Amino acid sequence: MSRITEALTLIRSSLPEGVTLAAVSKFHPAEALAEAYACGQRVFAESRAAELVAKAQQLPRDIEWHFIGHLQTNKVRSVVPYVAVIQSIDSERLLRAVDAESARIGKRTDVLLQLHVAREETKFGLTPEEAMDLAANVVPQLDNVRVTGVMGMASNVDDEERIRADFRTIRSVFDRLKSTVFASADSFSTVSMGMSHDRSIAVEEGSTMVRIGTDIFGEREY
Ligand SMILES: *Cc1c(COP(=O)(O)O)cnc(C)c1O
Repeated sequence: MSRITEALTLIRSSLPEGVTLAAVSKFHPAEALAEAYACGQRVFAESRAAELVAKAQQLPRDIEWHFIGHLQTNKVRSVVPYVAVIQSIDSERLLRAVDAESARIGKRTDVLLQLHVAREETKFGLTPEEAMDLAANVVPQLDNVRVTGVMGMASNVDDEERIRADFRTIRSVFDRLKSTVFASADSFSTVSMGMSHDRSIAVEEGSTMVRIGTDIFGEREY
């Protein structure tokens, strides 16, 4: 068994039913993804527009591509045709751009609202209040995006309680949206949180999708 197959098998067996594994394949060559594909993996996540497009053009058509990086509005046109889900909606401007481009090509794109709760990890993401406001006041105007959940990262620290508190915040924003704006939307169901080092805490705190790179493909070479 190859190392990738072995890692995937191990991770899958550790995830409870109902938690989807997104394989974060950024910076890894198409051959590594093909190996994971051969082992049954269908959900892959990338963080750079050009890399996602190049890999989508090379690899099988039934892969579900997720975008997880900061997406500049001038890259929206290139990724929209290839993505199943843009997990990193971090501004109203980006959400509107994805909607407009999806309308232009006759598609509906699923998106997650990216929440900023971590102390330092990234400057991107919406505050809980911004996410609530966007969901209540902007999303209803848009016909070509469907908000299917939230995505977030915990602080990049060793303090397990801090990490747990961040995941709880993400989950609580999801629950608030689910009980208000999206109360009648069954498709609003994804809580994307948890990476290689903190996935077990994320799952304990209510993740429905973990994004794992290093533990599947090894260290990235930038
Ligand atoms: C790179 C990345 C991951 C995966 O991180 P690993 O530590 O390699 O598992 C998950 N989420 C986002 C947003 C990332 O950019």
